[in-house]
Amino acid sequence: MDYLHELMPRFYINMKRYLDSEWPELSPQLDTLIVTRRCGCEDPNCTDFSVKQTSNKYQKQKGVIHYYDTSIQEIHPTLAIQGDNYLKGFEITNDYRDGYINRCLEKRFG
Ligand SMILES: [Zn+2]
Repeated sequence: MDYLHELMPRFYINMKRYLDSEWPELSPQLDTLIVTRRCGCEDPNCTDFSVKQTSNKYQKQKGVIHYYDTSIQEIHPTLAIQGDNYLKGFEITNDYRDGYINRCLEKRFG
């Protein structure tokens, strides 16, 4: 399985540090996320991708998904949080200056 921490360790570490300080209750949920696919749009620089939670512990709650802007280095991902307690994913519209996320996605998904 393509765990986020294996596929893009730099992003994982940045996100982990952010969650530890701002959303400590969500931080453990990051460790069991897998990356399922990259966005299928036409933009070659698009860095968006989908994640899925693999731990049953974090899948129980249904409800409205809220989006929160974050400020992680240059990428500013938007966090998707369901029912205030469950990390459902991110929306990333930017990449690190050196194209890290795109490279990681390219390596795995082509
Ligand atoms: Zn896209």
